[in-house]
Amino acid sequence: MRNTEKEKINIKNEAERCLYCYDAPCIKGCPAHINIPEFIKAIREDNVSRASRLIYEENPLGAVCSEICPVEELCMGNCTMNKMGKAINIPLLQQYATHADYKSESPIFTGKKVAIIGGGPAGLAAAEFFAREGIKVTIYEKEKIPGGVLNKTLPFERLSQGAKDRDFTKILENKFIEIKYNYELPKKPDWKEILKIHDAVVIATGLRSKPIKMIGIGHKNVFFADEFLMMMQKKTPKKLGNHIVVIGGGDVAMDCAVQGFKSANKVSVYYRRSRSEMPASTEERENADNTGVSMNYLSSPNRITRNNSGELFIEFVQNRLEEVKGRRPRPVPIKDSNFKVMCDVIVFAVGLESDKKFFKRLGIEMGNVLPEIGEDYQSSIDNVYLIGDITNGGGTVVEAVNMAKEVVKIILEEF
Ligand SMILES: Cc1cc2nc3c(=O)[nH]c(=O)nc-3n(C[C@H](O)[C@H](O)[C@H](O)COP(=O)(O)OP(=O)(O)OC[C@H]3O[C@@H](n4cnc5c(N)ncnc54)[C@H](O)[C@@H]3O)c2cc1C
Ligand code: SF4
Repeated sequence: MRNTEKEKINIKNEAERCLYCYDAPCIKGCPAHINIPEFIKAIREDNVSRASRLIYEENPLGAVCSEICPVEELCMGNCTMNKMGKAINIPLLQQYATHADYKSESPIFTGKKVAIIGGGPAGLAAAEFFAREGIKVTIYEKEKIPGGVLNKTLPFERLSQGAKDRDFTKILENKFIEIKYNYELPKKPDWKEILKIHDAVVIATGLRSKPIKMIGIGHKNVFFADEFLMMMQKKTPKKLGNHIVVIGGGDVAMDCAVQGFKSANKVSVYYRRSRSEMPASTEERENADNTGVSMNYLSSPNRITRNNSGELFIEFVQNRLEEVKGRRPRPVPIKDSNFKVMCDVIVFAVGLESDKKFFKRLGIEMGNVLPEIGEDYQSSIDNVYLIGDITNGGGTVVEAVNMAKEVVKIILEEF
């Protein structure tokens, strides 16, 4: 990236505002523990290569995270400068720094080999942390490109291609890392063979939309969130109709709602509890409000129907909330409160789940919802570790990076 002189002055001015706090709260707020004051100091001293190295040392997805981290809840939310009016714009400085190259030392091969299943954020970060220690890594990825959610369902406007390219190229250019595309385990290659030829295996296969059972779910134009978001990845996707109804109250539901305007004139969200219980972040909710999404609360879907003229309807029941000690209030359906909404498209964004069948076929034991793991990320099979969204039920990229760092440390101690 070529910054204009004016942009460079802005960046320098922003760096000048940093207080280099003792026991810096911004570092505590960063799950990847980037030494933020040190990299800001390097920018201030015109040593952008050093700033870049400091970021990538802790976070191999430093450019991606500079664009999509929920910074208000993390580094910036913790910044001391909030008390003095305005937090330091850490993502702006991080974006700037990650454009610079730096030299890194090539390690000596230790003789150890690791397989990583899944080339999303968690798998890529783990590969990089292993490779730095002289461990050969083979990533098996079912798609023909890396990045997982970042290239599949994350709305493309939210993350630049440049940031993905900078991070992925740095990782995949490493001579200790090989990525094999179009490999979907356990079909290809043989799982037993993978276990035999590697000293450890790390699985980072992510989550998928949770399917639900409901009368009429098979109707045309009824989608689950990941399928719908993939359709919306085009700049001008196919027009699907006038009115889209999104069911759910999390961040992914808000993404579906905002993206829905690419394909329809009206988007309505229906959520079973009230606004204050919505799991979506304040930022995502406000963004949906500002985009013109109609928010509807205390409504649970019942069934989907089509009339003789082919019009699509979703029937809801109205809820009241019942207090539950120590937990979120429970939605209780109100008798005879059913109502119907006519629409052209229905999107279910009611959560994510891990692929139970996949883990069963690998012989990995499942808990109630997610595969079982110990504190050391180890699954029910020795030397097979799990990280990323499959372990926390859906987090953030920077959390996946942190897990990758921790699991590599644990495995290195075992070697
Ligand atoms: C719509 C949406 C918006 C989001 N927005 C943000 C955001 O703004 N900021 C943020 O920090 N986080 C965001 N997240 C969360 C973030 O994307 C995830 O936390 C992160 O991608 C988790 O990484 P992962 O590697 O665990 O899983 P994934 O990203 O799901 O990657 C898993 C990889 O494994 C591969 N795979 C799956 N099964 C197999 C198999 N059987 N064999 C081989 N390969 C396989 C997949 O193809 C994929 O490449 C968002 C998530 C979604 C769904
Ligand atoms: S908390 Fe804010 S002011 Fe303090 S070191 Fe971090 S970025 Fe600088």
